[in-house]
Amino acid sequence: MERIFQEALEALLDRKDPERRLRAKEEKAAAGHEREPRPQSVWAFAMRHIPQAVKDAVWRRDGGQCVYVGSDGARCVERGGLEFDHIVPFALGGPSNNAKNIRLLCKTHNLMTARQALGETALRRQMGVAPINGGASPPTSG
Ligand SMILES: [Zn+2]
Repeated sequence: MERIFQEALEALLDRKDPERRLRAKEEKAAAGHEREPRPQSVWAFAMRHIPQAVKDAVWRRDGGQCVYVGSDGARCVERGGLEFDHIVPFALGGPSNNAKNIRLLCKTHNLMTARQALGETALRRQMGVAPINGGASPPTSG
């Protein structure tokens, strides 16, 4: 179970950091474990780029603050280290050039929501079972 989360997390970090992905690829190649190359990956990465106009619109709309709302209904007050997050993941067809699909999240909540999404997907794919906590939101801290 831990390994699935780890892999999902790795995949997320790779997605967010092209240099890291290249390094990982080189390491895999050096170790002789390189998988088949995926020709669409460079194009896909370019398509993930969020236009500056969309970023500006999202920033204004969200007030330069993390939009994550916890199970208690309170919105996260983080204003530092914010990231632009795809509400519908790019991999699932969510557009990068539409402010409606982009939101501001702090690093913690960006990682948390991605981990939940990736974790659930991985779990369902692996075992065909419902999420461990039945889909309830975990308690927030802070
Ligand atoms: Zn937050």
